[in-house]
Amino acid sequence: MTEMSAALEEALGVLARNHRWTWHHPTRRLLEALPGSAPDRHPVATLATLATVPSEVLEQWTTTHAGEIAGLYAELTTIRDAVGPPQVAYFSPEFGIASQLPQYSGGLGILAGDHLKAASDLALPLVGIGLLYRQGFFRQEIAGGGQVERYETVDPDTSGAVDTGVIVTVPVAGADVAARVWRQEIGATPLLLLDTDVESNSVEARSITDRLYSGDRRHRLHQELILGVGGVRALRALGLAPTVYHLNEGHACFLLLELLAEHVDAGSTLAEARAAVRAATLFTTHTPVPAGIDRFDRDLVRGELAPWARRLGIDLQVLLGWATMREDGDTKPFNTAALALELCGQANGVSQLHATVSRQLFASIPRAAAITGITNGVHARTWVTPDLQQIYDEVLGSGWDNGAPEAWARVGAITDAMFASIRTVARGELLDIVAVTTGAQLDPQGCVIGFARRFATYKRAGLLLRDPAGLARALDNGAQFVFAGKAHPADGEGKALLAEIVAFAESRHAGGRVVLVPDYDITIAQALYAGSDVWLNNPIRPREACGTSGEKAALNGVLNCSILDGWWADWYADGIGWAIPNSSATDPEERDDTEAASLLRIVNDEVLPRFFDQSGAWWDTVRRMLEHLGPLVTAGRMVAEYDHRFYLPMGRR
Ligand SMILES: *Cc1c(COP(=O)(O)O)cnc(C)c1O
Repeated sequence: MTEMSAALEEALGVLARNHRWTWHHPTRRLLEALPGSAPDRHPVATLATLATVPSEVLEQWTTTHAGEIAGLYAELTTIRDAVGPPQVAYFSPEFGIASQLPQYSGGLGILAGDHLKAASDLALPLVGIGLLYRQGFFRQEIAGGGQVERYETVDPDTSGAVDTGVIVTVPVAGADVAARVWRQEIGATPLLLLDTDVESNSVEARSITDRLYSGDRRHRLHQELILGVGGVRALRALGLAPTVYHLNEGHACFLLLELLAEHVDAGSTLAEARAAVRAATLFTTHTPVPAGIDRFDRDLVRGELAPWARRLGIDLQVLLGWATMREDGDTKPFNTAALALELCGQANGVSQLHATVSRQLFASIPRAAAITGITNGVHARTWVTPDLQQIYDEVLGSGWDNGAPEAWARVGAITDAMFASIRTVARGELLDIVAVTTGAQLDPQGCVIGFARRFATYKRAGLLLRDPAGLARALDNGAQFVFAGKAHPADGEGKALLAEIVAFAESRHAGGRVVLVPDYDITIAQALYAGSDVWLNNPIRPREACGTSGEKAALNGVLNCSILDGWWADWYADGIGWAIPNSSATDPEERDDTEAASLLRIVNDEVLPRFFDQSGAWWDTVRRMLEHLGPLVTAGRMVAEYDHRFYLPMGRR
């Protein structure tokens, strides 16, 4: 091999390992052109296979693509070099980066992945901290009328992870558990992942990071100790000293105890340590539902937390007191959100409505009064279909992807014909996926109404089944519904809901116009948001803290029809889509019936007539919607807001 081709292969390896390809289409196109590339295969795995075939194959390929490889590599290097050492450490139990890395279960993880990608775009010095789950989250099949779960093993070496060589230890269940620290690159943003599948560990310890949200409470507690405590130790071992620690949900709360103990070990009093930790920490809460908060029985945590009580020189009771919430009652479970609110200096909810609800939910904790709202956004270049990105680049000009209002103000120049051709292609791609995965042939002239999210009961996937007459009319009038979503393996009610949708889809009433696409993941999600005409969301208000799928659909020029909850409650305006009125009924059955009837009335009387009206009114609505929402719904806007309101002022202290 020549020196030249060795350098090219090296550069190609860097491009494949760095997950910038998940949103940078020129890089993605290059990697997809590799011999042996397949959509569900990580490019590093493709390269690994190529290493086993005669070397001329790869050598010849790299020579042919030399200019492209060198250009993209130089660009990536420039981006990485522009960012200094991390000032912000962003802790999350899941990260949704690519469908080839099943390290996420839903909105929380996707949000975390989008946060890292937007930080890279903004050259913000941030490092992500998470766990490397060997089996991650499950793949879903639909069989026998319900969900079947299948786990795949992730090989870190062929998924872009690089072993940092660092191993940290954390006391868990009375033993020192070792965790290897892997490093992923998300553009300019590093992501550190801890993995307890290390030979020196016991069999039980090795399985701590086996799967996402699996096992019993004890297993979960052990995962959270590795994430929080191991995460801080990993930063130290790598010589990193961020000035801000951002907790994406309470799962990483043990990092707070480790930070306190570091200060006390270094000679601070507890009061000084608490002040220092307060100045450096931000807690983002994600659920307005009390049952959604992570809690542990006191008996479970007592033994585990004794080492930190000792290092802090306090009675364990005091420590447990910090994690207690009056609303939890006499059993006083260890409440991770309470601990985070007690020790963090700043806290926020993920929409303005959610912030208001959170202040009430945590009212007994004094600091909760200061919970503010930063509404979630989505990473535009990840979620907007590439054809439409090209039109945005040409017509709106630079800055649209980070929410620049002056760019979105030019949306009037995108013609009906441009929108129509993009939508026809995207709808066709979605209908192909539907046909391949379900066998159903939907009508390319019909109106596709999409509904996809976790099958959590509060999201009410089956709401429209409550108005059979209204639904029958909608199906007659040209509506077709595409569902997707996974139910948590231990959530019987969620699975029953999914089975109900599958049964209806297969029934005569559905007439082949209702389908459930299996295995909702990032790839299916991208096709669904781009290929739908209308995005439906009907949670029980105010339980959807933000919701982000509707934001992704909106950026694709799809109109939302949603209950006024989360982001839609914050930003809905007349004439940009449809708001399903909330029922004031106190009886849940009556509330659901009323809201189902409202939903189908809107679909039948407003959505479908406008969709099939040939006057262009639909595209006028789309342009109005984009001009209004484009500046608001991007992760660029969100991360910039975190930076101005929290990261910068906290870092200056
Ligand atoms: C965006 C997204 C979600 C979150 O959707 P919500 O509307 O917030 O429930 C879940 N899963 C995937 C794969 C997503 O892309």
